[in-house]
Amino acid sequence: MADDAVNAPLTVAVIGSGPAGFYTAGALLEQSGVPVRVDLYERLATPWGLVRAGVAPDHPKIKAVSSVYAATAADERFRFFGNVEVGRHVSRAELVERYDAVVYTVGAQGERRLGIPGEDLPGSVPAVDVVGWYNGHPDFADRAPDLSGRRAVVIGAGNVALDVARILCSPVERLAATDIADHALDALRTSAIEQVVVVGRRGPAQAAFTTAELRELPEFTGAAVEVDSAEVAEQPGEEKLSRLIRRNLAVLRDYAAALPSQPSHASQPSRTSQPSLAAGTRHLALRFLRSPVEIRGEDRVAEVVFARNRLEVDAEGWVSAVDTGEREVIAADLVVRAVGYKGLPLVGLPFDERRGIIPNDAGRVAGADREYVAGWIKRGPTGIIGTNRKCAVETVATLLADVAAGRLGRHPGAGGVDPVGENESWLRERQPDLVTEAGWRLIDAAERASGEPVGRPRVKLTTLDALVDTALTRTRTLTG
Ligand code: NAP
Repeated sequence: MADDAVNAPLTVAVIGSGPAGFYTAGALLEQSGVPVRVDLYERLATPWGLVRAGVAPDHPKIKAVSSVYAATAADERFRFFGNVEVGRHVSRAELVERYDAVVYTVGAQGERRLGIPGEDLPGSVPAVDVVGWYNGHPDFADRAPDLSGRRAVVIGAGNVALDVARILCSPVERLAATDIADHALDALRTSAIEQVVVVGRRGPAQAAFTTAELRELPEFTGAAVEVDSAEVAEQPGEEKLSRLIRRNLAVLRDYAAALPSQPSHASQPSRTSQPSLAAGTRHLALRFLRSPVEIRGEDRVAEVVFARNRLEVDAEGWVSAVDTGEREVIAADLVVRAVGYKGLPLVGLPFDERRGIIPNDAGRVAGADREYVAGWIKRGPTGIIGTNRKCAVETVATLLADVAAGRLGRHPGAGGVDPVGENESWLRERQPDLVTEAGWRLIDAAERASGEPVGRPRVKLTTLDALVDTALTRTRTLTG
């Protein structure tokens, strides 16, 4: 029995099937030092996390990374357990008891708050809602933003702000060729939005955009991008800035030069005489050095009050925005707060409130045994998808070092016939609508088959019922 226990594969539960979860599974399966089996748990009925529900639908090249995850999922030592929520169907303690190690790759599911008056007025929404809505995430299908006004203000100067602004400005025919949720496509078809103003609190050199995302805007939206040349004017010492920042600045200056800016948003009610760069088309404007201090409106959003900022550099070189005392009001019919995500605590594990992460040492959860983290819940919501690979590889290295050091006791069932075989029946008792890899393949095939005749990569199923019924080949009878 003792020998069996030694030879039994290391069993690892990975919680969360986004990029960090799949890269963790992949790194475990790729190594050859220790025999291993991986069970990947997912709250939704579908895998891939933000690659399915976060990456914008008009970025299919970024989504293509899912083929790497599909290859991991095809490994016979891997199982997908979808539609299982840890904390609801199974507890953390049960997982720790049943597996040699548990790795949490749950991402950052909360939103950062602005903490200003009016933030929760109707018409002021977090980007996470809009992104989930246009991507067909079942939890966000009913979070349609109100697109009946002419101007949307997007707060934040990161890639999520650009994603949201671009989708709101894109010609619908372009979006119709993507896997955008049908409900979003329908709403965008009749959207009255003419201008989306993206507002950053610091300067253009501090914006968190990546250059490709900035550069593609005119092509994707079919309209000029409005930038005020004074806001992107050359500053002394720019040669010391990173290549990415210098490239961003060059793109912004091209936009400003191509279209000498007449800032068109301040202090005017957008529903009336709002001049637009290209009448009849939707276009995007980028503004800097403005922090929102209040969102105002009677019973819904009408305008955002911004503090005009100047920049201050501290001894470490950190550049902060400092309020000059000057105020500017931008009329807005919709406000999207794209100021970053925030990790949420997991019951029983330590949590760093300020950073929104689970404190850890190279992936090993501080003060816990056999529990690890990777991805955004480990390091915060930064980086591109590939960043999670490096992050997961580090966590797996820590885990394997712990195995080598004898820090991982084997779970009580080890040494039996199949150390993880029993887990599936246990799970089915807890969640009869368990969606396995085979179930996900049925969903995938059904969505692709609906997309194929209309030239789309897939038509997403956007309700849990539809997803689970497809995975379990159930037909639902509609009753009148
Ligand atoms: P982000 O890159 O952290 O950007 C957040 C933005 O919000 C920053 O400009 C930040 O300004 C601003 N902000 C924060 N608090 C604010 C406040 N109180 N008032 C005004 N502005 C505030 O976050 P994100 O856009 O959510 O993106 C998350 C991660 O996903 C990033 O790493 C991003 O690159 C990645 N992503 C990548 C893609 C892509 O590759 N296509 C697409 C989407 C997302 P400060 O800098 O001054 O704090």
